[in-house]
Amino acid sequence: MANGIAESFNSWIAIERLMPVYCMLDQTRIKQMEMAGKRREEAERWTTELTPKMEERLKVQMEKSRRFSVHYSSPGVYEKSYSFPIHPITNVDMSSTDSASECILPPLAKRPPGRPRVKRFKSVGEVEKKLICCGHCGKMGTHNKLSCTEPLVQQ
Ligand SMILES: [Zn+2]
Repeated sequence: MANGIAESFNSWIAIERLMPVYCMLDQTRIKQMEMAGKRREEAERWTTELTPKMEERLKVQMEKSRRFSVHYSSPGVYEKSYSFPIHPITNVDMSSTDSASECILPPLAKRPPGRPRVKRFKSVGEVEKKLICCGHCGKMGTHNKLSCTEPLVQQ
């Protein structure tokens, strides 16, 4: 989630990011001021309590709720709901009364050698395939001599 917000913000300031630090901060500040101004003007035109999008969602939900039927409860129903005991669930603070052999310990993890990664792993859609020249057919693409499907030319 936080990564998504950071990436969204980074793409929003794609041009500003290339500037020197002071210019980047100033341009980002101007961009935010412009956006806030635009949103304020937009909000002044609203006539409803909620945002137009949320107002529309509320209308849809209210329309859906018309089909619900209401059943009135009685004191007996409430008492019946809570008539059975609720047993506590064991956690770290409250150890189980059963044998210790049933206790599940975390796996023995060993830190991998080398420096930890700084760059994140990219998703499948994000990775751009690099074009390479095939040694067999000579075409530019994503295959090489071994994975080439072009037929052999008899000489
Ligand atoms: Zn090829």
